[in-house]
Amino acid sequence: MKDEHQESHMAKIGFIGLGNMGGGMAANLAAKGHEVRAFDLAEAALVRAEEAGCTRAASAREAATGADFVVTMLPAGTHVRAVYSNEIINAVSPGTLLMDCSTINVASARAVIAQAAEKGIAMLDAPVSGGIAAANAGTLTFMVGGEEAAFENGKPILEAMGKAVIRAGDAGAGQAAKICNNMLLGATMVATSEAFLLAKKLGLDLQTFYDISSKASGQSWSMTSYCPVPGVGPETPADRGYEGGFAAALQLKDLKLALQAAQEANASVPMGSLAESLYQVMVNTGAGGRDFSGIIQFLDGELAAAK
Ligand code: NAD
Repeated sequence: MKDEHQESHMAKIGFIGLGNMGGGMAANLAAKGHEVRAFDLAEAALVRAEEAGCTRAASAREAATGADFVVTMLPAGTHVRAVYSNEIINAVSPGTLLMDCSTINVASARAVIAQAAEKGIAMLDAPVSGGIAAANAGTLTFMVGGEEAAFENGKPILEAMGKAVIRAGDAGAGQAAKICNNMLLGATMVATSEAFLLAKKLGLDLQTFYDISSKASGQSWSMTSYCPVPGVGPETPADRGYEGGFAAALQLKDLKLALQAAQEANASVPMGSLAESLYQVMVNTGAGGRDFSGIIQFLDGELAAAK
């Protein structure tokens, strides 16, 4: 017998952007019983979504028409602005809640949300933390900007794709939290890497240094959850030759968004700025697809060469 409780919570969801992240997210919504109409420019992404139980839409406009919720997971601010301005906002009615989960600049997020508000349509910025594995497993963390009522309305849908859904504040606050967090991550990864390299040059055993620093004031997530040194700490991309994980090119993108926001807000971010320059070097050498913890190889080739 069909569960009436579940039936009453089934929603019509338009999902646009079925890439590395969006593909898994849309699949999780379909798996939870929602009716997902999916669109992407790439045929392969559409086929994958259909296999996961979504229905194919012919355009973003078609995916959004008649939906209770629209979720987008697009590359950058330009794509988000174009898809919302040209297709989604004109296709939906005030009963629809729009949720953009892409990582984009704060100004673009606020501009699109304002444009929707002009037509009486509520919208949340809801970027995520957690990579492709978390998107596939439905264990993302959402940081959400928007009005309280809209947040409460969208929360169950985001919960179907994640393990934590946290309201950061009003419009744009989700993107602000995301880029501040990732700027901190970039800076601590560089700092952790250089500390290990100095420890090595000073003759310390790196496991011993880890054992000490992970219980002392130098501890951070970059050290104890994502150690950039192969064979030290928990298993991380460092143990797989820096393959997979969180690509340096994406870390660079987030650092650039943080610097752009800092410039607009007259904030001084010297460590974030230095991290951005270093990640630019890594990406320029053709290593943008490698995990961001591979920055340690660019600070001193010795450690990597030894492995
Ligand atoms: P991706 O490039 O794999 O996917 C983006 C998808 O959007 C592609 O399939 C593309 O065809 C589609 N697209 C582009 N323009 C479109 C349009 N006009 N209409 C319909 N579809 C369109 O990127 P991704 O890795 O899935 O990342 C998506 C967003 O999530 C980015 O903003 C990224 O910064 C953010 N993010 C990514 C990760 C990660 O680990 N990959 C983690 C957290 C956040």
